[in-house]
Amino acid sequence: MRGIGVSPGIAIGKALVLKEQHVTIEQKSTRSKSEELERLQASLASVRQKLEEIKKKATLELGDKAQILDTQILVTQDEELLGAVRGSIGGGMTAEAALEIGIEFYAKILEGMDNEYMRERAADLRDVGGRLIRHLLGLEQQDLSALTEDYIIVARDLTPTDTANMNKAHVLGFVTDIGGRTSHSAIMARSLEIPAIVGTKDSTSRIKTGDLLILDVKEGEVIIEPDSQQVDLYEKSRAEMEEEKKRLLKIKTQPSISADGHKVELAANIGTPTDCEGALYNGAEGIGLFRTEFLYLKRDNLPTEEEQYTAYKSVLKTMAPRPVVIRTLDVGGDKELSYLNLPRESNPFLGYRAIRVCLKQTDIFRTQLRALLKASAYGNLKIMFPMISSLDEVRQAKALFEEVKLELIKEGVTVSEGIEVGIMIEIPAAALISDVLAKEVDFFSIGTNDLIQYTIAVDRMNEGIAYLYTPFHPAVLRLIKMVIENGHQAGIWVGMCGEAAGDLDLIPLLLGMGLEELSMSAISILPARELIGRLNQEELKKKVPEILQLGTAQEVQEKLKVLGGA
Ligand code: PEP
Ligand code: MG
Repeated sequence: MRGIGVSPGIAIGKALVLKEQHVTIEQKSTRSKSEELERLQASLASVRQKLEEIKKKATLELGDKAQILDTQILVTQDEELLGAVRGSIGGGMTAEAALEIGIEFYAKILEGMDNEYMRERAADLRDVGGRLIRHLLGLEQQDLSALTEDYIIVARDLTPTDTANMNKAHVLGFVTDIGGRTSHSAIMARSLEIPAIVGTKDSTSRIKTGDLLILDVKEGEVIIEPDSQQVDLYEKSRAEMEEEKKRLLKIKTQPSISADGHKVELAANIGTPTDCEGALYNGAEGIGLFRTEFLYLKRDNLPTEEEQYTAYKSVLKTMAPRPVVIRTLDVGGDKELSYLNLPRESNPFLGYRAIRVCLKQTDIFRTQLRALLKASAYGNLKIMFPMISSLDEVRQAKALFEEVKLELIKEGVTVSEGIEVGIMIEIPAAALISDVLAKEVDFFSIGTNDLIQYTIAVDRMNEGIAYLYTPFHPAVLRLIKMVIENGHQAGIWVGMCGEAAGDLDLIPLLLGMGLEELSMSAISILPARELIGRLNQEELKKKVPEILQLGTAQEVQEKLKVLGGA
């Protein structure tokens, strides 16, 4: 079976297929009231026991989640809620319908409270309610953080939260029916270094739990029930890949310099402070993109200023004196925060996301800016705003940044002098006015993941049109060139932090166009460094105009293959 290989490697292991669950809840019971009450009791007991088990397993990694589990266990014993549920059962309802109504009733009350802590408990209530209802309906519960055996996960789709929740020790790889190269679960898989193939269309219907699988990410191939010869062959390739990795690790501490002596900074993209480990291991010269939204995802409430401060400080300290570009919150699109209760949108990638959320819900933005500025004293911080589409947004975001900075200085907090403030160029509008924007910021970082989808009008998540989604499209390349030139004209540095920055076929052109920094998944850094060492920047610079005159992505790609090999 074929898909899009998104996180390199070879995985060999048993499949665990996560089935989609469509829940229909019958309202009127056909059972006796005492039978319904017994069903309720049984599911309360079983879910409580399961929660106790998960809590027991809560090791250091799950530390903060242990508390959530305590609260959830309490829900299963809440007499006020259960009294109401029993009352509805007495009126002829099924246990699941009574629970659904009772849970929603109390969740709404909690949500309406002044106290933030109580409001946050609504999500716990709904979570436990969901577990109870699924238990009553005999549906399986899946918890990827609680795996005890090694598996290759097979699912229709994985949300970034599912991926963030994976217990890396037991997830050998994953395969999904839908998704593309730059969907956020794909990006997470790369930073966790978990081999992954997405967009297979029908893996969940063709693979059964327990099937032996081989994932050959390079070929985008999933082999179901391979024979022993195939297993041996792939075990061998896996060992070879490890050898190649060891060879590349020799250039880990070297700078990235082209054959003609031109220096480029190769940085890593990270999602959590723990990713710094992989970044340093793979020889990152800095962090070019810290996607802070992942701090907001693995939970059911907003992270506090203190929690964020701790995370930012840890990254800055670990990486110091290397530069660290921290991007402010970029929720929306495929990164949903259920607890923000954002309205459902039919075009989430064109909707209320990123800087748009931050400039409207300024309390969220201010908290993040405070945490960032407080942490700034611990390293080389640069702040970046995502999804900028206009100069107004830049000015508003910068004004808030200045306000928060003054507020902190007044409070006596030490804030670093001269923190660079930059923006992502990931919307064609921003690229087209990059001459104007460049005068108001300290740097640009080109976000090709979104720039491609908005330029070519091709959804980055949709495997059905993935053949159109390419950084080699001449329109995308012309925009990139324009941004670099406008940035340089205004005297600011220009980097790239979309996945294209780590594309070995594209790097010769990016080098020729004069990008100062390339930020990529940590695992791409060493192969990129090795390649750059073989390239001549001056020569490549001369080739840029003719490449940009080519008409198709394929022609560009073919031309670049020759240049990359040269
Ligand atoms: C991008 O769009 O290229 C980018 C780096 O941001 P994200 O992938 O988080 O949307
Ligand atoms: Mg983006």
